Amino acid sequence: MSRFLNARYETLEPYTPGEQPKNAGKLIKLNTNENPYPPAPGVVAVIDDRKLVDLKLYSDPEAAALTEAIADFFGLRKGQVIAGNGSDEILAFIFMALQGKSGKVYYPEISYSFYPVYCDIFGAKGIKVPLGADFAVEPADYFHKDGTIVITNPNAPTGRALSRAEIESILEANRDNLVVIDEAYVDFGAESAVGLIGRYDNLLVVQTFSKSRSLAGARIGYALGNEAVIADLNRIKFSFNPYNLNRLSILAGIEAIKDRAYFEETRGRIIKTREAFTAELSALGFHVLPSKANFVFAASDRISGGAYFAALRKFNILVRHFDDEKIANYVRITIGTPKEMRSLIAATKQILESGAAASEGLNG
Ligand code: PMP
Repeated sequence: MSRFLNARYETLEPYTPGEQPKNAGKLIKLNTNENPYPPAPGVVAVIDDRKLVDLKLYSDPEAAALTEAIADFFGLRKGQVIAGNGSDEILAFIFMALQGKSGKVYYPEISYSFYPVYCDIFGAKGIKVPLGADFAVEPADYFHKDGTIVITNPNAPTGRALSRAEIESILEANRDNLVVIDEAYVDFGAESAVGLIGRYDNLLVVQTFSKSRSLAGARIGYALGNEAVIADLNRIKFSFNPYNLNRLSILAGIEAIKDRAYFEETRGRIIKTREAFTAELSALGFHVLPSKANFVFAASDRISGGAYFAALRKFNILVRHFDDEKIANYVRITIGTPKEMRSLIAATKQILESGAAASEGLNG
């Protein structure tokens, strides 16, 4: 820590991103919920030499062509959409400015681990709402609150989803609170709340191109909601980083969202792989939570989460294990290609048979 840091940030604990290894080539990388399939073909084709030369010019601060393409996809108006540098940036704007009058933000106790960091950096009062059995988010626990509510649906890292009716019950019971639904993983089988935007001016839906559009490296996220809330977000964006989307990402995003057929095909493949993989891992005695995301959250009473993570690493398979005692027995496994998942199942069989489970500490 230098002597120049403002005292207010001395205790800030930054978010820990999943490992992005330098030698990713020889690893089966199932740790940060990326899409195993490449971006839509149009994305690759649109970035030519001319577009690279254009990098000498600033990008469009409104990213109008992209927000229009997103609005078209959802049947919304352009004023109901804002794009950001990843949905992380959009979430940052929300925690910075849309904490409501009370400054309180409610979110599930186990959820995206960035939320408490945002609360910390922006001085919001984060309130963790406990989960029900098997990490279920209980809608009634969010009724009649006195601040903003942020719910990841499907939740991360559990993969469990609420139905649209359940989300609607939360909106209905919080007419004067903003309800943010972080739908980073919604395209893998959950019900989106986007259809409720016309009826609830307290709803803000956040989505990303990082998962179902295979563009994690392009850093494109967006929020959808009523025009006044989107205008508030633009107020923040234009006070912070007006050119938040670069030229190449704007082009890539437009091509990705236009190609509905590719989107349907790749997300369908991932859902199919997830279902087959869940059955196989369950057959090995794992407890696998019902997932509507492009990952599963799984635990075994034959091996601790930490030991399983470490043992898979020896097979060059990278998954995610969280340093939180409530979920210490679990690992989160991104759904890759069928071949990658077969390798993981084969490695798991060997790990369980080799007795690594016993020697590396049963149940942590
Ligand atoms: N929300 C959730 C629940 C996530 O897991 C992630 C990915 N880490 C994000 C938002 C942010 O994704 P991105 O910034 O890549 O859009």
